[in-house]
Amino acid sequence: MILLHSTKDDIYGKIPLIPIGSIEQHGPHLPMGTDSIIVEEIAKRIEKMLSDKILLFPTIYYTCSIEHGDFPYFGVSYITMISYLTELVNQLSRYFDKAIILNGHGGNESILDIVKRSINFQNKHFKLYIFSVVGKGLEYFKIRDLHAGTVESSIIKYINPRLVREERLKDIDYTVKDGVFNTITTSDANPHGIINLDGKVKIDEKLGEEFISRVVNDLYSFILSLE
Ligand SMILES: [Zn+2]
Repeated sequence: MILLHSTKDDIYGKIPLIPIGSIEQHGPHLPMGTDSIIVEEIAKRIEKMLSDKILLFPTIYYTCSIEHGDFPYFGVSYITMISYLTELVNQLSRYFDKAIILNGHGGNESILDIVKRSINFQNKHFKLYIFSVVGKGLEYFKIRDLHAGTVESSIIKYINPRLVREERLKDIDYTVKDGVFNTITTSDANPHGIINLDGKVKIDEKLGEEFISRVVNDLYSFILSLE
């Protein structure tokens, strides 16, 4: 069930699913909404498969992207995000006994861990679960795409090929400086904002399709395991 389409009486007994993405640079060829587009696609499919069980919340787009330094992004600080999510999840805990955050953006991982801990360790009757797609490319395919590389490009190509500007990948320098996402930003690490540790970005719609179907299966099993 989709929250924005539901009445106040229909929401009870469901599991809220809240997709969280980002709005940030994804190289010269991918849309700034890449992370959001990916989690929305997964969430939409899960809602269709489990419509009597899942209550799909609207995606949270503006999140934590400070790691992109001088490249464009639209988000908020870690502190703001922790407060915002904690308040939202506390509100959920009045009506539900659990909720799932579906995260598509690496920059949100550390704050999500804090929010999860602070909610769960202070609530006996409500639990927050985080299901993250971050790192799944490495897990499924052993591909080291940390940002806007082979995995993300292939997924967007599969979801909506018109959103991938492949011709802009000509003459790209794929080298990545050490310390990215740790001591330096993506704008310091690579001139194009692509952090693809395996070199050249290879775009393969089939890989994108497999990624989405495996994540959907994993999330489906995860949701069923919560009963
Ligand atoms: Zn991304």
